[in-house]
Amino acid sequence: MKAVTWCGKKTVKVENVPDPTILNPRDAIIKITSTCICGSDLHLYDGYIPTMQRGDILGHEFMGEVIEVGKGVASDKLRVGDRVVVPFTIACGNCFFCKQQLWSSCDNSNPNAWIAEKAFGFTPSGLFGYSHMTGGYAGGQAEFARVPYADVGPLKVPEGMTDDQVIFLSDIFPTGYMAAEMCDIKSGDTIAIWGCGPVGQFAIRSAFLLGASQVVAIDSVPERMELAAKAGATIIDMRDEWIYDRLLDLTGGRGPDACIEAVGNESHGGTLDAYYDMAALATFQVTDKAHALRQCINCCRKGGTVSIVGVYGGIVDKIPMGAAMNKGLTFRMGQTHMMRYMKPLLEHIQAGRIDPSEIISHRLLLEEAPHAYEIFKHKRDGCVKVVLKPN
Ligand code: NAD
Ligand code: ZN
Repeated sequence: MKAVTWCGKKTVKVENVPDPTILNPRDAIIKITSTCICGSDLHLYDGYIPTMQRGDILGHEFMGEVIEVGKGVASDKLRVGDRVVVPFTIACGNCFFCKQQLWSSCDNSNPNAWIAEKAFGFTPSGLFGYSHMTGGYAGGQAEFARVPYADVGPLKVPEGMTDDQVIFLSDIFPTGYMAAEMCDIKSGDTIAIWGCGPVGQFAIRSAFLLGASQVVAIDSVPERMELAAKAGATIIDMRDEWIYDRLLDLTGGRGPDACIEAVGNESHGGTLDAYYDMAALATFQVTDKAHALRQCINCCRKGGTVSIVGVYGGIVDKIPMGAAMNKGLTFRMGQTHMMRYMKPLLEHIQAGRIDPSEIISHRLLLEEAPHAYEIFKHKRDGCVKVVLKPN
């Protein structure tokens, strides 16, 4: 089959690789009909996430048709012919963490747990197409994929719904929603969101769904800010506005009730700390840049919440803990607990409360993946979100 492979920093190729096969009784094989490129893939592309190997198949946002199931998958759970969206986190459904709905902390789905334990103390769940530290699983930017624990993750798509309507249930809609949910939004609240990428877009829409009175979105890419404004957000263009001052103006001098970090470890900016990050990264003193995270902490009102869904892989520096501590902030964060959100969010789509497809800017063929990574990475050609079609 054809698949998108990681071939070193800033190089992806479309190569012929062996088709996946059932390895374990609870596996299923999916023939992929839609697959996306995520901001998280850019962290791999840019070389921020360790333990990638040449030839690793990328991709963790995909859906398609079940063409084979292992003997351990009960037919009331999944059958050949079902159309499914696959969550990017892999979970066994039986461990201490899965039982508490902490799906992205599953204890059994990362066969390379020892690598993650060395880095983090404990391992998160396995992830599709996301380095050997999270399992070394082949990803879904391909014609076919093997899905482990297929009786737990995949969500069946109701008749009549298109791929474009449901594909983002594989990651970014639940992620944006969890980011907003972690803010414990009350009526009257102002939520500030750093990053108007695909995750930020869903955080904005979810904050409104959860009852925020005002959502303020921060970025510098014109078409992304436009899309955020279309969803009702007040925009701060970080290129020419002082974020802190503007947020105070918008909140009667108090600051946002919660700040969502939807940027991650490649955040950039024009202030001294952002330049410090670049120097620290170049000299191996840090692994991740934290400019947006620092701003979230500094701008949040006293007693507010900082909700982090932007991905961090290792060590950051110059985190203003004094501000966080003395303001009494609550920090919440994590890889998304996907299986908590997929079904309820499907219902929001069915009810017409949200149309996820409006963030798609490019529909391309799988073969065009190298070009797609380039335009998504450099925000060229108005690229907000790419959906790749294997056929
Ligand atoms: P993206 O790269 O398309 O978007 C990031 C946006 O942040 C860009 O529009 C960029 O212009 C903007 N930005 C950069 N620096 C900024 C700054 N200092 N202030 C404000 N905006 C800034 O990525 P995406 O697909 O939207 O993903 C966003 C983050 O969420 C990534 O780190 C991704 O890895 C992460 N993510 C996390 C999970 C999870 O489970 N927690 C799931 C999916 C994605
Ligand atoms: Zn993703």
